[in-house]
Amino acid sequence: MAEQLAVLLTAEQIAARVRELGAQITRDYAGGDLVLVCVLKGSFVFAADLARAIDLPLRVDFLGVRSYEGSETTGVVQITQDLSRPIDHEHVVLVEDIVDTGLTVGHLIELLRTRGPASVRVCSLLHKPARARVDVRVDYVGFTVDDRFLVGYGLDFAERYRNLPHISVLAQGS
Ligand code: 5GP
Repeated sequence: MAEQLAVLLTAEQIAARVRELGAQITRDYAGGDLVLVCVLKGSFVFAADLARAIDLPLRVDFLGVRSYEGSETTGVVQITQDLSRPIDHEHVVLVEDIVDTGLTVGHLIELLRTRGPASVRVCSLLHKPARARVDVRVDYVGFTVDDRFLVGYGLDFAERYRNLPHISVLAQGS
């Protein structure tokens, strides 16, 4: 089957929104320290740009998570790589590529809260509220999108397309 891509968000639109999110986070955490927790693999591009848009002392850490096989959720979140340092008494922003059903981020918030951080907030580049299965609060949302399968800017389909500079809708035709 042939895969077709249609651009939904250009690199310029994404860059402008990431700058706004960075400015908002900079204001909200002014005077404090921050840990950005990048959820691998899909968030690596967004987290790299977001970190550079935040004008505060911060550290970056990574959580490896697997929740999808192909394009369907399994509802099971597997931790493939844990944080490199403790986060107790620290302000954490969990950086996600997309919140779809909310299962992954809901699970990760619970996990991080067991480690005694000062606070945990969520920053997701994309949010698909139509698909929500659990009620999770996404504190910073880049773009609210419809229920379509998206690739690019870190998002993959079967490990491909992560390197696209824009975000596209993936359609499978014959
Ligand atoms: P959730 O647990 O919220 O259903 O799913 C979150 C994860 O599913 C995301 O971090 C991402 O890896 C994957 N996902 C959800 N929707 C999409 C999509 O439209 N495109 C891609 N490439 N991955 C998605």
